[in-house]
Amino acid sequence: MANKTFTIPDIGNFDSVEVIEIHVKAGDSVKTDDALITLESEKASMDIPATFDGVVQELLLKVGDKVKQGDNILSYDIIGAKETKPVETKSAETKSDSTKPNEPTNNNDDAYDVVVLGSGPGGYTAAFRAADLGLKVALIERFSSIGGVCLNVGCIPSKALLHMAKVITEAEDASHHGIKFNKPEIDLEKIREWKNNDVVGKLTGGLSQMAGQRKVTVIEGYGKFTGSNSIDVEDKDKKTTKVNFNSAIIAVGSKPIVIPNTPDHANIIDSTGALEFKDIPERMLIVGGGIIGLEMGTVYDALGSKITVVELADGLIQGCDRDLVRPLQKRMEKRFENIHLNTKVVEIKADGDNLKVTFENKDGQFEDTFNKVLISVGRTPNGKLIDAELAGVNVDDRGFINVDRQFKTNVPHIYAIGDVIGQPMLAHKATHEAKIAAEVIAGEKVEYQANVIPSVAYTDPEVAWVGVTENEAKQNNIEIEKSAFPWAASGRALSNNRTEGLTKLIFDKQTKRLIGAGIVGVNAGELIAEACLAIEMGADAQDIGLTIHPHPTLSESVAMASEVYEGTITDLFIRKR
Ligand code: FAD
Repeated sequence: MANKTFTIPDIGNFDSVEVIEIHVKAGDSVKTDDALITLESEKASMDIPATFDGVVQELLLKVGDKVKQGDNILSYDIIGAKETKPVETKSAETKSDSTKPNEPTNNNDDAYDVVVLGSGPGGYTAAFRAADLGLKVALIERFSSIGGVCLNVGCIPSKALLHMAKVITEAEDASHHGIKFNKPEIDLEKIREWKNNDVVGKLTGGLSQMAGQRKVTVIEGYGKFTGSNSIDVEDKDKKTTKVNFNSAIIAVGSKPIVIPNTPDHANIIDSTGALEFKDIPERMLIVGGGIIGLEMGTVYDALGSKITVVELADGLIQGCDRDLVRPLQKRMEKRFENIHLNTKVVEIKADGDNLKVTFENKDGQFEDTFNKVLISVGRTPNGKLIDAELAGVNVDDRGFINVDRQFKTNVPHIYAIGDVIGQPMLAHKATHEAKIAAEVIAGEKVEYQANVIPSVAYTDPEVAWVGVTENEAKQNNIEIEKSAFPWAASGRALSNNRTEGLTKLIFDKQTKRLIGAGIVGVNAGELIAEACLAIEMGADAQDIGLTIHPHPTLSESVAMASEVYEGTITDLFIRKR
């Protein structure tokens, strides 16, 4: 018997977490994995399990104490010799055996059951699900903060800034109906701090903590395949760790497309640069009228920049029906300086700190000068940057990796998920795929069966759509019937002073089931979820219309669009044909 002290293990990036419960007392016998105490951070509560079989001698903390990694929990005596190593999050370590051949090492003793390459929403979800299913998992990420594009430089920081924008524009709108606010004072540094620490930091810190709780080994460094069962991870000091696996999941995501011949200039930025939020340029050009560019335009417009958007195609947000984009475009035309459609950027030239841009459309060329240019013309997959060929995995010319419905690549024990396997490049697609890949590896008989993936532009107003669009139906000769409810007839939209919205439903002509939906208006991104569920459940207009929706809400517009289809609507008068 030996008297030992048990301390708080690695709990992620937290240094003051409250003890909210103690599950043992002096004299208790505990077994490995028995919960000793429960801690609670702002993000989650977590049990700290024993990593020994023994008898508690003395408790060294109490409920209400604030603790961090390394603080004492209790002293104990070991029973027998049983003691396991606590969970840890580690940086890439060097293995001295660099002469090991790069050949398949399947079923090595040191091999992980699953190695996940990339820690975005696809990667961390896959790693966590696999660990929850009892597999030994490593998660490789080149950056010190896990969470990928979505948490660090995508979905989450953009939504934090869009929230700021919403506060400003709502205050402006209020002046039209009797409440006047002074012009806002904008403290860029504070906004940045809030976005980085209170939003992104909390989420990514929470992920690290959950990785620890699940015993997922996080390896920091850049991973490349060296064989069909091994990846080399190079850390920032150029040290290499060989990681062996029985199965791997490629979740390396994507990066912004760079327009060739664009000069290297501090004021030409991509979405990551725009989210850094260094300044508020007086005049800003957004190259690309897709979702990401327009969301950034919404932010900088609210903060005072004069925005110009240039788009090669004949409309903003391609892929979405025009009647849904129209209310957004109308509002943007009022707020933005210019929206150039059917126009391409021919040249961007540095002019000191400014940028002289030459455009071309059917009428010829014209020039304009901007303080900042955001290039937002799409994203390209990272598939070509990981030596996948050394593992035998096929990557196409554009960098995408082809997979089957279980997310297996052409090498059956190597899977791929998320942006790297194709469009739509969206976080919720990546997480859904991630769970399936992890479950397949764990031996479950599952495959991808979702019917639809929703898309949302978190602009003002928001535009959201799911399933078959009217355009698609026309192009593919799908027989549909549609109905729409204009928000001008919605009490809630009127009360919000935002009546430009529209809820549109698309039904299969034969089965009468809902197969598509589109919503434009405030909170459309939240509202679309009902249509997603209805489509997955095979609901028809009657199912939706007869579901009692709360009043007064914008969600009623979904029921009312169904009532329009059924001919039972009373909130509109529709003349009978
Ligand atoms: P990623 O999130 O790209 O993660 C891949 C990870 O792999 C990264 O952390 C990368 O560093 C790491 N990695 C790559 N190669 C290696 C390597 N060789 N070794 C180690 N690590 C590697 N989607 C939405 O659904 N909703 C939104 O609102 C939304 N907003 C967005 C806003 C912006 C500005 C941007 C840029 C994107 C937005 N997206 C949004 C898209 C979303 O971020 C992506 O679809 C999602 O992050 C893809 O997840 P993923 O797991 O496939 O890859």
